[in-house]
Amino acid sequence: MTLRGRREPRGRAPEPLYVTAGSSPLPSLIVDLDLLDTALTARGEPRFRARQVWDWVAGGAAGYDAMTNVPRALRETLTADVPFSTLAVVTEAHSKDGTVKTLFHTADGHPVEAVLMRYRDGRRSVCVSSQSGCPLTCTFCATGQMRFGRNLTASEILDQVLHYRRVEAVDHVVFMGMGEPMLNVDSVLEAAGRLPDTGVTPRRTTISTVGWMPGLTRFVEEVTTPIRLALSLHAADPSLRRELMPVEERYPLTDVLAVCRAHWEQTRRRVFIEYVMLAGVNDSPSQAGMLARALGPGAFKVNLIPYNPTGMYEGSSRAAIDAFKTVLDRARIPTTVRLTRGRDIAAACGQLAAVPRAGNSHTP
Ligand code: SAH
Repeated sequence: MTLRGRREPRGRAPEPLYVTAGSSPLPSLIVDLDLLDTALTARGEPRFRARQVWDWVAGGAAGYDAMTNVPRALRETLTADVPFSTLAVVTEAHSKDGTVKTLFHTADGHPVEAVLMRYRDGRRSVCVSSQSGCPLTCTFCATGQMRFGRNLTASEILDQVLHYRRVEAVDHVVFMGMGEPMLNVDSVLEAAGRLPDTGVTPRRTTISTVGWMPGLTRFVEEVTTPIRLALSLHAADPSLRRELMPVEERYPLTDVLAVCRAHWEQTRRRVFIEYVMLAGVNDSPSQAGMLARALGPGAFKVNLIPYNPTGMYEGSSRAAIDAFKTVLDRARIPTTVRLTRGRDIAAACGQLAAVPRAGNSHTP
C-alpha cells in the first residue's frame, strides 16, 4: 500500500526503525517491533534482523525457536525480552460449522475478539477487530453495548490474524469485528499494508465502515492498493437510519454514498453495501425500492445480512429477504444474502461482545 502524506503514529519517536531488506523498507511494528527494535539495537545486531524476524512471524512461525537463520543466543534474548504476541488468548470457542471465535486480552487487559471462518471450498477468512469495544451505538449490534476500551495498535490487529496463521494458511481478512475501523484509520491501514506478507492480498482484504467520513475520506484519497470497501447502510430512509445508527446524525448517508460513488468512478471497484434484515423495521419491498434508488446502478453490490440475535429485534423471514432481494435484482443491483457463520458460539456479525460462553469454549 502506498500512503500519501502518512503521519507518524502518535507518541513514537520521529525516527522509527526502518530496515531495508531488498528494496522494501520495513517500518517498525509487530511482535511489538518497538520492543524488538530496542532489543536488537541494544545487542548491536545488524538491521536486517528485524526483517528476518518479521518474515518468520508473518509466515506463521510458532515462536523464536523456529527462526533457524537467527543466531541461537539472539533467539534466547528475544524469548526473554520481547513477547511473541501483543495478545494473550483467554478462551476459544468452536462452532459446529468450523468457525472459531477467540477472545484475547491486550497486555493492558482490554478484551478483543476475532473469528476464523472456514468454508467448504477451502477459503479461510479472518474477521478482525480494530478497537476493543465500539464507541458507536448501533441499536442492533452487541459490540456497541459493551464498554468502549481503546483503539488497537497495528500489531494488535495483525496478531489476531497471526494467531490463526500459525495453525493454517489464511487467505481473506475482513475488518468487521469489534469497533469502527475508520476511527482507527492509521493502525488499520498500517495493519492492512502488512497483510500481504501473511498471505492475504489487498483484493482479499475488506474494510467495513458505518460511513465515518474523516476516515473514509482518507481511505479513498490515500489507499492505492485494491483493498475492498464495505459500507454498513441498513436503512436508506434517513430518519430510520438515524434511529438504528446514531452516526447518521453526524455524517448523513447521502454524503457518504457520494464519496463511495466517487471511489467507484476512480477505481471501478464496487463498494459492498451491508444491510442487516430486521423484521418489520427495514425489510419491506418499498424500503428495498428506496435503497435501489439511493444506490443507483453500477457502483454498489448489496449483501443482505440475516439478523443475528442480540436480544433487540426479530430477524426477517426468508420470504421477506427473498422479496427484498427481488426488488434489488429488478433494479439490476447485484445482491447476495450473507451466509451466517458461528451463530451457535455468538461469533456471527454483531454478536462480538467479549462474553465467553460456557459449554462450548475452553481455555487453552
Ligand atoms: N463498525 C464497522 C465494522 C463492523 S462490521 C461497521 O459497522 O461496518 C460488522 C457488520 O455486522 C456491520 O455491517 C454491522 O452492521 C453488522 N451487524 C451488526 N450487528 C448485527 C447483527 N446483530 N446481525 C447481523 N449483522 C450485524
